[in-house]
Amino acid sequence: MSAEASLIDGKSVAAALLAEVRAGAEACSSAGVAPCLAVVLVGEDPASQVYVRNKERRAAECGIATRDHRLSATSSTAALLELVRALNEDPAVDGILVQLPLPAGIDAEAVLLAIDPRKDVDGFHPENLGRLMVGRPRFVPCTPQGCMRLLAAAGAELRGRRALVIGRSTIVGKPMAHLLLQADATVTIAHSRTQHLAREVSMAEVVIAAVGRPEMIRGEWIAPGATVIDVGINRSANGGLVGDVEFAGARARARAITPVPGGVGPMTIACLLRNCVDAATWRAGLAPAP
Ligand code: NAD
Repeated sequence: MSAEASLIDGKSVAAALLAEVRAGAEACSSAGVAPCLAVVLVGEDPASQVYVRNKERRAAECGIATRDHRLSATSSTAALLELVRALNEDPAVDGILVQLPLPAGIDAEAVLLAIDPRKDVDGFHPENLGRLMVGRPRFVPCTPQGCMRLLAAAGAELRGRRALVIGRSTIVGKPMAHLLLQADATVTIAHSRTQHLAREVSMAEVVIAAVGRPEMIRGEWIAPGATVIDVGINRSANGGLVGDVEFAGARARARAITPVPGGVGPMTIACLLRNCVDAATWRAGLAPAP
């Protein structure tokens, strides 16, 4: 038995994906279509500002132009809807990203529903989530898409295997479960009301943790030889970043595991840009739109 799980290196998997995105963006540009992502940021939330800056920097590195739309925290839902409608109708815009969370006074659901599903590069619109559920995906939400790419990079067998998704959010847990189902895994979803979580974890051959609680999944719960993808990003008591999984204990039992940071995190932006370049590829007529 091997002593320790191998690390699934999100940075290098993301770098390979970004190279593909760059090549795709170049092909679009050569065909006369400049890929363009519109980024909408409402308010001054410092974490959101960092996320937006990172997305825009990575986009530029890949040859994707970004258009920055900043609105004050006191903006009305109507003003935001007006902006989204204008971006929907702008033929030069391939993708629209509205950075979440939106300030409390704004009807976030109305805003997400207003985004043209053909420009919804986050994949959060019910039409895109519905397409995923029936097995005809257009834009797959970025974080679960990134997890699937990491599982593939780790050579994880999914067909017929027991996969456990911990967390049932619309942006991570639920789409993740559908992707695993499409890969023929036998899928269980655990959530805040699940009883006997330790037992569920101990039976899983693939574990995806997306809860947002530091190290709540204990290393000794992990089945020997399991593959573990840790989506959680949490501040530890000493100020560092930790995942939802107790890393050292899990690494001693698993076959392969993602570190935090450097696992799922880098994949999310890369998958967002992948979705954006897909949209530009369809606009350029280089591939049929789904
Ligand atoms: P969320 O708060 O929307 O959902 C958390 C889920 O955890 C809920 O469905 C809830 O039922 C479940 N849960 C809560 N307590 C539980 C318990 N005791 N046992 C089992 N399940 C429990 O969060 P989210 O948006 O899905 O994000 C989850 C985590 O992933 C967060 O740490 C977030 O920061 C991180 N995240 C990371 C990335 C990335 O790029 N790496 C992207 C998105 C989210």
